Amino acid sequence: MRIELENLEGGKGDFAHVYQPDDLNPVDERVRLAAPASVNGKIRLAGNEVFVNGHVDTRAQVECDRCLKPIELPVSADFELEYITGSEYESTAVAELTEAEMTVSVFDGKAIDVDEIVKEQILLAVPTRMLCREDCKGICPQCGTDRNTGKCNCVTEDIDPRWAALKNLK
Ligand SMILES: [Zn+2]
Ligand SMILES: [Zn+2]
Repeated sequence: MRIELENLEGGKGDFAHVYQPDDLNPVDERVRLAAPASVNGKIRLAGNEVFVNGHVDTRAQVECDRCLKPIELPVSADFELEYITGSEYESTAVAELTEAEMTVSVFDGKAIDVDEIVKEQILLAVPTRMLCREDCKGICPQCGTDRNTGKCNCVTEDIDPRWAALKNLK
């Protein structure tokens, strides 16, 4: 969904939308939507700047880093964003940009892409490392057996480092 700025009455407006998972999947190569995503918010123009704030609710799905089993997690994110046009950005000397202003996004000056906002908020809400459970044993690197649910007979070389030291003494 794109919000065309020229359609905003009085330079501001509200928006709300519900995305089906297929509308946005895949969010990136790692993250998918596991449930519809609802977004709502407000948009306001102020001179050459656009301010957008709102809220996203959904459930995301990622794979366990060790065993690749899908994990679902709730996403509930508030956002507060600021956009300026590319030409405006270029005319602002880099030295003038305070740390807060560095979070400003550049847009085409015509419309705000809400799909991108929702995807970005989901990615920000998902931790970079995810395990299905704290002590996930992962999968066997040789045969692919899920070590949480099965055993295999592969001989693996990962020896406890304390014993490895002893082995070197022989
Ligand atoms: Zn796992
Ligand atoms: Zn194995």
